Amino acid sequence: MATDTTPRTRGPADPPSEHAGASPTRWSGQGGRPRVVIVGAGFGGMTLVRELADAPVEIVLVDRRNHHLFQPLIYQVATASLEPADIAYPVRGLLAKVDNATFRLGEVTGVDWEERRLELAEGPPIAFDHLVLAAGAETATFGIPGVDEHAFGLKSLADGLRLRDHLLREVERAEGRQEAVEEEGALTITICGAGPTGVELAGAAAELFDHVLARDFPELDFSRSRVVLAEMDESVLPGSSTQQQEYAAEQLRERGVDLHLGQPVTEVRAREVELEDGTVIVSGTTVWTAGIQANPLAGALELEQGPQGRVVVDETLAVPARHGTWAIGDVAAVADDPHPQLAPVAIQGAKHVAEEIRRAVVGEQPQPFHYADKGTMATIGRRAAVAELPYGITLTGTPGWIAWLLLHIIMLMGGRNRVSVLTNWAWSYLRWHKPGRLIIGTDEATEGLRTEPQPPD
Ligand SMILES: Cc1cc2nc3c(=O)[nH]c(=O)nc-3n(C[C@H](O)[C@H](O)[C@H](O)COP(=O)(O)OP(=O)(O)OC[C@H]3O[C@@H](n4cnc5c(N)ncnc54)[C@H](O)[C@@H]3O)c2cc1C
Repeated sequence: MATDTTPRTRGPADPPSEHAGASPTRWSGQGGRPRVVIVGAGFGGMTLVRELADAPVEIVLVDRRNHHLFQPLIYQVATASLEPADIAYPVRGLLAKVDNATFRLGEVTGVDWEERRLELAEGPPIAFDHLVLAAGAETATFGIPGVDEHAFGLKSLADGLRLRDHLLREVERAEGRQEAVEEEGALTITICGAGPTGVELAGAAAELFDHVLARDFPELDFSRSRVVLAEMDESVLPGSSTQQQEYAAEQLRERGVDLHLGQPVTEVRAREVELEDGTVIVSGTTVWTAGIQANPLAGALELEQGPQGRVVVDETLAVPARHGTWAIGDVAAVADDPHPQLAPVAIQGAKHVAEEIRRAVVGEQPQPFHYADKGTMATIGRRAAVAELPYGITLTGTPGWIAWLLLHIIMLMGGRNRVSVLTNWAWSYLRWHKPGRLIIGTDEATEGLRTEPQPPD
């Protein structure tokens, strides 16, 4: 067995200084342990680290962010219900008790397959024996004009905060300025895409306007506020059962959400959203929740891409023709049977790949991955949610809402975050209190988004 000469005072992801900028950080095989490099500290990547914590491997986790993010609750940051630290957790904190794992902050940009080393935007490359891609997805705009420039996305904490800043700033702008409300849509938020994220955001925005901001701004007439939900499908929550769709639509309408169904968005302009039938919605805030595509890393690594640009993997989640490489979660798609881009798929895929790596280390045959469908859920607001669970169990109303609350609390990383979210939700339930009504981003709120009215020519 090779002698491990790695200085334990530094992690394998931090190369000794004589290596800096020159050769890759190659530690694989030291101490007889193969190195597993995982790209992405999301649901898939973090689960994989946990599953391999007692395996005879050395793990290097790479992410361009220093935190794990609970994406399903970004919209609650955007609508002031939760604070960023409630839904994110520092990766280094999560790895503190995992002796065989280290973290490297950096953006992966490429790979040298011959040398088996991962290239990063900055710093030395990282050598690997086994590579797992868990880099997630990003917003897909489908080339619709104006979306990139004028609509907010909802994929990162920064997205959530920018949207929150902008929304609150618009309400401040509206006070005492009737024309800002009528001509510039300062009290209008248009959400494009009525999947679970769009539905949840629409419900939360309606509650924010009606129960919280209306109290903060007694001079403002909130009967002029609008929450618009535009969807190209004929119903909200495409893919759910008709019963759930009807329930969700009814609950949204009860909360005053203006549904435009069966109407694709054709263009987003500064303070305007145009639909296929020619309807123009004057909208001070526009959010794009209409679709996602795989992380472009799939292309950068020159791997075969399937639907939505996802890395094509075989039934064992291995990348064909790339020995010792797997892809999981949103970035991956099993050929002929792409799973939905949901957290349980990433988590289950990670558990499977952990077993595949253990098998690979001892020379056993790979096994196929079987996804167990855990169902879907979406909350529309207080005591209103839809949940489609395994075995045909469907829940709506208060039972669905409680199931949604419990599941999200369980899935959050870190005890402090669970307590904090639970406390915030309980306080909000009792007092209609949203603690995050803070404008903190100054000019970043509108950076890159030319939503300010253009001066006349
Ligand atoms: C707003 C929103 C709401 C959602 N709601 C739900 C829900 O209610 N239920 C549900 O099941 N799913 C939901 N999802 C989907 C769910 O979040 C994803 O399916 C899940 O996060 C996928 O996990 P993953 O590990 O594949 O990727 P992610 O969790 O996205 O993690 C990918 C990681 O890779 C990192 N990364 C990306 N590119 C690079 C690079 N080049 N270099 C280094 N690091 C990189 C990212 O920083 C990120 O940390 C939602 C998603 C969003 C955006």
